[in-house]
Amino acid sequence: MALKLYNTASRSLEAFTPPPPHTVTMYNCGPTVYNYVHIGNLRAYVFADILRRTLEREGYEVKQIVNITDVGHLVSDGDEGEDKMVVGATREGKSVEEIIAQYSNAFYADMRSLNVHMAAKFPRATAYIKEQKKMIEVLSEKGYTYIASDGIYFDTEKFPAYPDFAKLDVAGMQAGNRVDMGEKKHLTDFALWKFSPDDGKHREQEWDSPLDTNRKGFPGWHIECSAIIKAELGDTIDIHTGGIDHIPVHHTNEVAQSACANDVPLACFWMHSAFMNVEGEKMSKSLGNTYRLIDLHERGIPPLAYRYWLLTAHYRTQVNFTWEALAAAQSAYNRLTSTVYELPRATDAAPIKECLDEFITSIQDDLNTANAIAIIWKLLKDGRYSPGEQYNTVRIIDKVLGLELGDIPAPKAFEIPPSVTALLEARKKAREENDWALSDKLRAEIKVLGYDVKDTGSGQTVTVSM
Ligand code: AMP
Ligand code: ZN
Repeated sequence: MALKLYNTASRSLEAFTPPPPHTVTMYNCGPTVYNYVHIGNLRAYVFADILRRTLEREGYEVKQIVNITDVGHLVSDGDEGEDKMVVGATREGKSVEEIIAQYSNAFYADMRSLNVHMAAKFPRATAYIKEQKKMIEVLSEKGYTYIASDGIYFDTEKFPAYPDFAKLDVAGMQAGNRVDMGEKKHLTDFALWKFSPDDGKHREQEWDSPLDTNRKGFPGWHIECSAIIKAELGDTIDIHTGGIDHIPVHHTNEVAQSACANDVPLACFWMHSAFMNVEGEKMSKSLGNTYRLIDLHERGIPPLAYRYWLLTAHYRTQVNFTWEALAAAQSAYNRLTSTVYELPRATDAAPIKECLDEFITSIQDDLNTANAIAIIWKLLKDGRYSPGEQYNTVRIIDKVLGLELGDIPAPKAFEIPPSVTALLEARKKAREENDWALSDKLRAEIKVLGYDVKDTGSGQTVTVSM
């Protein structure tokens, strides 16, 4: 059977058929690094990781890009408001560069804790300003743009297929619109580039604008993805992913600008992971109901138990976060890791063909990880199979699931960034030497990195600053 994936563009399951060997080009919209990512965000990258591992199991090489959004994503998620990066820098009294370093490093640490294969490249949007300007110029030459007093806009009416990707009811949206459109010609038009306000102030993130406008400015949020994809992966890629919230605006805009600039479709497959809710509401920073991996850690739930919980649901199913659900997943995961760990290693035992076939059928069916986990449990309980056969079969399945089954007896602990660990070590030494001034100084430095240290009878404990 061939791998079948759900393509948002066609709203159907489609066979993924390029014959191996083929290098699959895959782009995953990455985080906006103005704050810590929450566990809802991380669902999008665990999903992309399962997809990557499945493609590799099918015999493909995967060239994967996860961008780092470090400019242009405004607080409104649209074309108004402050840049989220500036909000982060002001909030913490730091430079934008410091904020980018802090939160992209924290993101990488979370990804590693979750056993997400680190993609070959995590390009920053600000490293591709030239490419973004070039694309805006191409769009302008072809007549797709107009200049307003606050920026350069994409004219969505020039691309009649604009509503198709997200099946937008543009007439209905216009009738219901209560928002001032400013100088936008149409409700769905979007900023390719924003001009810095003419207030004479120097801004950390601004560049000469394209199209001889003689203004400083910065790129809009959507153009970075189109420009990075073109530069790193080509005009048409195999697979583009993101969370479902991206469908109506961000991905619709990417589709439009890339198709108009390059004259070919941006991606063959568009795949979207569903949201994580908390008590019926979306988990989001603006609602203040987010949890981080370290919050789970503080409740004794390791990252791979969280990964296990995610994989017990299909990636297109909305999940509801509760501590009870997570505790149940943790105890199941603990039982699973210890059961597999205790199996005797017998390198010559053949993996169980019928179980592997069943697993492959499940994972090829649009990444049915829930079924894959059920197959593992079933085979471990089946007395017909020897422990060696069970062990070797689970190991093959786990190459795709990435749960480290059979690797280590205890699940992986939360990863504290190396910079913090080094400071903790230095502080421990200072305290042993009764150098309280240095100890306090190091505590302050750790605080700057986002962590609080407490001294207990058994040594230092670290929590995340609130
Ligand atoms: P952002 O940093 O807002 O661009 O989000 C990074 C990724 O997380 C995107 O793919 C979003 O679609 C995804 N995302 C945001 N909130 C959630 C949520 N509550 N559940 C699942 N995915 C989310
Ligand atoms: Zn994107």
